[in-house]
Amino acid sequence: VVDTFSKSERSRIMAAVKSRDTTPELIVRRLAHALGYRYRLHVRSLPGAPDLVFPRLDKVIFVSGCFWHRHTCGRCRIPATRRAYWLAKIDRNAARDQRVQRALRRLGWGVMVVWECQSTAGKIERLRKRLRTFLQS
Ligand SMILES: [Zn+2]
Repeated sequence: VVDTFSKSERSRIMAAVKSRDTTPELIVRRLAHALGYRYRLHVRSLPGAPDLVFPRLDKVIFVSGCFWHRHTCGRCRIPATRRAYWLAKIDRNAARDQRVQRALRRLGWGVMVVWECQSTAGKIERLRKRLRTFLQS
């Protein structure tokens, strides 16, 4: 897979996906709030410091960037420069995600992952329903 972004596009994307309080995360927070749920953010005492934690429901949500967490949607395009570096880095991220989710499930937490690409404009209603189902179950 070849990186089709220009250098400036790529650095803008990197900056955006690295930052806390990314737009997909804000969208998920607003939806959960509108559904009447309250949550804590980035709970460091739990494996992986989940983005949203619903303590009384024993549920957590991770909002994951498609690039950094190697989603299979096609947005995870490894840059052509320093390709081995990026592959190794993103492999580590994906392996850590699996470890963290297993650890949480062993501790009795329900885990949901919302991918960045699932929070785009046309997909909000589907995401809202998914959140509602997850939080109600
Ligand atoms: Zn994706």
